[in-house]
Amino acid sequence: MTTDALLTANNLTKTYRLPGSTHHKAAENVTFTLKTGGSLGIVGESGSGKTTVARMLVGLVTPDKGEIRIAGRAREPRTPRGKRARLARAREIQMVFQDPYISLDPRLTASDCIRTALRLHGRDESRVKDLLDQVGLGAREAGARPRELSGGQRQRLAIARSLAVNPQVLVLDEAVAALDVSIQAQILKLLDEIREETGVALVFVSHDLAVVQHVTDEVLVMRRGRVVEQGPTDGVLTAPEDPYTKLLLASVPGKDWDPADAVRARAAL
Ligand code: ADP
Ligand code: MG
Repeated sequence: MTTDALLTANNLTKTYRLPGSTHHKAAENVTFTLKTGGSLGIVGESGSGKTTVARMLVGLVTPDKGEIRIAGRAREPRTPRGKRARLARAREIQMVFQDPYISLDPRLTASDCIRTALRLHGRDESRVKDLLDQVGLGAREAGARPRELSGGQRQRLAIARSLAVNPQVLVLDEAVAALDVSIQAQILKLLDEIREETGVALVFVSHDLAVVQHVTDEVLVMRRGRVVEQGPTDGVLTAPEDPYTKLLLASVPGKDWDPADAVRARAAL
């Protein structure tokens, strides 16, 4: 392990028990390292286990096996009981979901939402405006409730709320999937800027290779719960070695795209 590793996942494994006596291995021996201030993408088709890994990182799913280390310490597999310990744990890793509408309190204005997060973590409440500024929300949005904001603005608010905690790692699970392409681009640019300004490390989960290509240095390709390929994003997404990564790339519509290539790549698996 290198000394600048901020977050490491070692052999994370999760099996879901299904009705009857069947089991489903949603994640198997998932292992990776994220550097301080780095950005790691997790890609794969729907059902490949990406969300399961993201949820294990934040502690919403307890791994059957494996270990998560952050800043050299093992992360408790379960949420601790005491408030102090819970808050300290929340400051290690924060998560942004696909649909912030569900995780934002509908009664709170954007300002109140950020202030509540700052207060909970004993941080300076005068930072509300700075945090909203940082995600490009102005005075009008500050006084708005979630339903009065657009999808892109809600996602900006969810990101600001996560940053209020000053986390070491931000995990984003399909965080731009529900947004229009032009809004996606704005949020991706914002994430790049935030990473540069704050040094927060990103785990960026997406089924969309183009999105991952823009915001990550390293990428991990998952298929059926396993990592089939991992390495620098540039290398993996321009010269993939694994047939599954090749299939994913062949499936992305673009200039000179031929659906027949994707069909052939699938048949070759
Ligand atoms: P992805 O995010 O890549 O779409 P998920 O991690 O959500 O994949 O799911 C991986 C697999 O695990 C899927 O087959 C899914 O149906 C299954 N799964 C996910 N969560 C649960 C659960 N709570 N109970 C049972 N099966 C689950
Ligand atoms: Mg998912």
